[in-house]
Amino acid sequence: MQTIKHMAFAVSDLDKALSRYQQFIGVGKDARVIDAPKARVRVAIFNVGDVEYQLNQSMDPDGRFAKWIAERGGEGLHHICYTVENIDEALETAQAAGATLKECSSCKVTGKHPHPEGFIAFLAEDTGGIEIELMQVYTPEELEQYKAVRGI
Ligand SMILES: [Zn+2]
Repeated sequence: MQTIKHMAFAVSDLDKALSRYQQFIGVGKDARVIDAPKARVRVAIFNVGDVEYQLNQSMDPDGRFAKWIAERGGEGLHHICYTVENIDEALETAQAAGATLKECSSCKVTGKHPHPEGFIAFLAEDTGGIEIELMQVYTPEELEQYKAVRGI
């Protein structure tokens, strides 16, 4: 069964977007705001029910999210990440149905690869303009292994 792991939004003013969530809807008051200098992204992470929201603001004008906003002509929902039980099977099924894989713009890897929370892959095809990310969330053992390899 698929659930939504997170929805990632591209924003040009993270503080403004976050304060609107907080003031108008009453969510995001416990948001974690993280600077990721390597990816040149500032991200606010909070939950709305079981769904994690990620507000992403590029630190540079030519950053991943800034470029996306410029090309698209505005801020918006950048991608939705769905959890899958087995990413190999999920990708096989999707590809058998005609999907193709897309390079991860952070890692420059196409297909299944490790991210901090699980094995992920992006599809080249979107759903009504919304990019699809699939994630097999790590087991506690896999998470330990990921951290050990990265030295974190
Ligand atoms: Zn990646």
